[in-house]
Amino acid sequence: MRAPLEELTTSFQPQRLPPDLPDADCESGIATVPLVEEPHRPAWQPDIPNLYLDLPPEELVARISRARGILGDRLVILGHHYQRDDVIQFADFRGDSFKLCREAAARDGAEFIVFCGVHFMAEGADILTRPEQTVILPNLAAGCSMADMADPGDVYAAWEDLGEAVPGESTIPITYMNSAASLKSFVGRNGGTVCTSSNATAALRWALARADRVFFFPDQHLGRNTAKKLGIDIATETAIWNPRKRCGGLHRDQIARAKVLLWQGHCSVHIRFKVEQIEKARAEYPGVRVVVHPECTQAVVDAADADGSTEQIIRYVQDGPPGVYAIGTEINLVHRLAQEVRDHGKQVFCLDPVVCPCSTMYRIHPAYLAWVTEALVDGHVPNRIRVDDETRAHALVALERMLAIT
Ligand code: SF4
Repeated sequence: MRAPLEELTTSFQPQRLPPDLPDADCESGIATVPLVEEPHRPAWQPDIPNLYLDLPPEELVARISRARGILGDRLVILGHHYQRDDVIQFADFRGDSFKLCREAAARDGAEFIVFCGVHFMAEGADILTRPEQTVILPNLAAGCSMADMADPGDVYAAWEDLGEAVPGESTIPITYMNSAASLKSFVGRNGGTVCTSSNATAALRWALARADRVFFFPDQHLGRNTAKKLGIDIATETAIWNPRKRCGGLHRDQIARAKVLLWQGHCSVHIRFKVEQIEKARAEYPGVRVVVHPECTQAVVDAADADGSTEQIIRYVQDGPPGVYAIGTEINLVHRLAQEVRDHGKQVFCLDPVVCPCSTMYRIHPAYLAWVTEALVDGHVPNRIRVDDETRAHALVALERMLAIT
């Protein structure tokens, strides 16, 4: 019989992330160096044991492999497409946030689910898995600057403001998957739904058929790009809700006119892509196919040939004809995709010339993965992500609504 597991506690409290991470984060590159040499480590979870600090990448990889072999079927490792190669190689499943949460739910035999992604994803996995399963985020500092732009308190206050501004009118809240569990719970309680970048159109259409307007958070760009696809006039029928201003900084008639209210949030990775980069790619590679993520600005999405979720971007390139592809999404995904399709006559490059991984995904350094997997072998559970029962119940309503819509 196995010894009971001891849950390790930490005093580390992740800080909310600034809206725009400093450019210095973009110089990190994508090659792994020992944790002690990481320039941004001071902001990362500090209570990893010292022994992991200066281990070289090869040793970390060997340790993770060993621990994984010992844990066998008890462990499932999920890897988001934006993870670095030294981490993604251990993923039993790779995908975007929603695909991975579904994989987590389908692995009901696994005792431990180590989520190599960011905090909101691990919360999503905890909501969708059985209570006996343990979800672990290797580095608790791996948050998401976009998710942090929608502070739950600000959203609740905005909802009240909205009710007072347009009494008697109906509004449905939609939260992007990239948000805290408490906000998924909020939309579940208030007749709304969650959406992902692959089903946002269906979610918005569903909500607009039932209400006067939609309150969409936290990513204004996904909301705007999706509204445009549904034929909504962006200039007159959408408005930006600024959470730092009373009533979003909007007059009552602006709210009354809006079919879609867009929370003023964005992804610090995807707003780096610019129309000029697309123009340059088209000038240098006539016939290039440009595909971008819908978290990019409307101007960038309009200038591209296609837009879609990470899974859709991968399929666009894999299923497309030989040729040159310019991609507007995170660099780790683009690099891997380039390698995977190069023998099929396809050349793939990132629109952004500056190597810029998602700086929070990047915090899942292999040292953290080695730490948590070896701790599990030793009978300890570090960094458990747990969503309380009430939040989970309402969030599940919103997630199930999304599944029913799409
Ligand atoms: S890529 Fe953007 S939305 Fe995704 S985790 Fe990083 S900051 Fe958040």
